[in-house]
Amino acid sequence: MRSIIEPFRIKVVEPIRITTQAEREEQLRKAHYNLFLIPAEYVLIDLLTDSGTGAMSSDQWAGIMRGDESYAGARSFYRFYDRMQEITGFEHILPTHQGRASERLLFELIGGPDKVVPNNAHFDTTRANIEHSGAKALDLLTEEGQTPSCDAPFKGNLNIEALRALISEVGAERIPAVFITVTCNNIGGQPVSMENLRQARAVCDEFGLPLFLDACRFAENAYFIKMREPGYEDKSVAEIVREMFDLADGATISAKKDGLVNIGGVLLLRDKTLFQNASNQLILTEGYVTYGGLAGRDLEAMAQGFAEVLHEDYLQYRIRSTAYVGEKLLDAGVSIVRPPGGHAIYIDAAAFCPHIPTTEFPGQGLAIELYRHVGIRSCEIGSIMFEGNAPMELVRLAIPRRVYTQSHMDYTCEGIIEVFENRDRIRGVKIIEQPPALRHFTAKFDLV
Ligand SMILES: *Cc1c(COP(=O)(O)O)cnc(C)c1O
Repeated sequence: MRSIIEPFRIKVVEPIRITTQAEREEQLRKAHYNLFLIPAEYVLIDLLTDSGTGAMSSDQWAGIMRGDESYAGARSFYRFYDRMQEITGFEHILPTHQGRASERLLFELIGGPDKVVPNNAHFDTTRANIEHSGAKALDLLTEEGQTPSCDAPFKGNLNIEALRALISEVGAERIPAVFITVTCNNIGGQPVSMENLRQARAVCDEFGLPLFLDACRFAENAYFIKMREPGYEDKSVAEIVREMFDLADGATISAKKDGLVNIGGVLLLRDKTLFQNASNQLILTEGYVTYGGLAGRDLEAMAQGFAEVLHEDYLQYRIRSTAYVGEKLLDAGVSIVRPPGGHAIYIDAAAFCPHIPTTEFPGQGLAIELYRHVGIRSCEIGSIMFEGNAPMELVRLAIPRRVYTQSHMDYTCEGIIEVFENRDRIRGVKIIEQPPALRHFTAKFDLV
């Protein structure tokens, strides 16, 4: 088979600086070995997150110039609205400044003490917004989903039996909505099948519950359905996306992922009263309903981004280029969460550094060494981030959209494999100083 190429050529370039090992060691010391505290200028390949870090197309930049900055009823709003309606079929659509703003608006209205919100796995901001309202956030993954070495096609699926058990345990009246995150970020960008969405819908119908999607990576999820789910191989991604949204009563979306923009979010609702209440909340804290805390030009970029993300040559390249990194690492004997997800590769740091005990944070040790050795910035997803409740010690390589070429990824893999061959050199860390919550962003470390 021929190589799957980047389906674009490059019109604007942003230089990245190749630093020396001595410079990187100095930056690490200055940052107290916390990669969030290193200035981006000193990072060669930045795989910290895929959120808002993508490259916009020439048509999106043209949209930025076309942006209508009228306060109310701007042309750009209607372009955004029409595109979202065309893709999702929803009528009640609010723009927000990012995903968590949509979450806050929604959970202020449907959350509250005594409520329980199930999800396949809540993203951290979703969980935080639910808990902030006084409600409880529950993760209901399947057994497969929690087994990193298992190669199942839809590891993001919601555990339907566990959902039924929850409903009979707490009662439907305490559940304001059932959530499903597509793709499931927390377990490596693993997709959810249409079959699973349909089953969840059937349970929701049986008990009169609304079904919501956390739809940040809806296009990547739809592409996986097309590739992996029987009966969908001949459907277009746009048709699959529409079928996914047709099953839902609402959705929160961060456009910083599959919206292919650097900032933006969306809240979709079927219920008219809920929409009116959310509109009032939006006006109170974000902005008027036709801009939601964004500039008109941002709405133009989103309208175009949401169209481009459905191009199947783009999705083929996107999913293939992530898998390419995963396969290279697996071939070299590096353990990763399998199969490769849509937006990121997760390295099993405990297997990578068997000489570092969990108490000395192998994920952080590995992330530090990847930066020190080759200037790659990754992210610990383990005992530092989850404060001792981590199911696994992982290092995430999140891949920004349309930003790096195959040679950047080859270099990344070569660097990781070099580190793997000299893995006994990797040192653990100890925490010197930490804030009371979300400590991974600002904690200070020292090498053990
Ligand atoms: C990024 C993300 C969010 C939150 O979106 P922000 O734009 O970062 O506020 C919510 N859910 C999932 C699954 C995400 O990946």
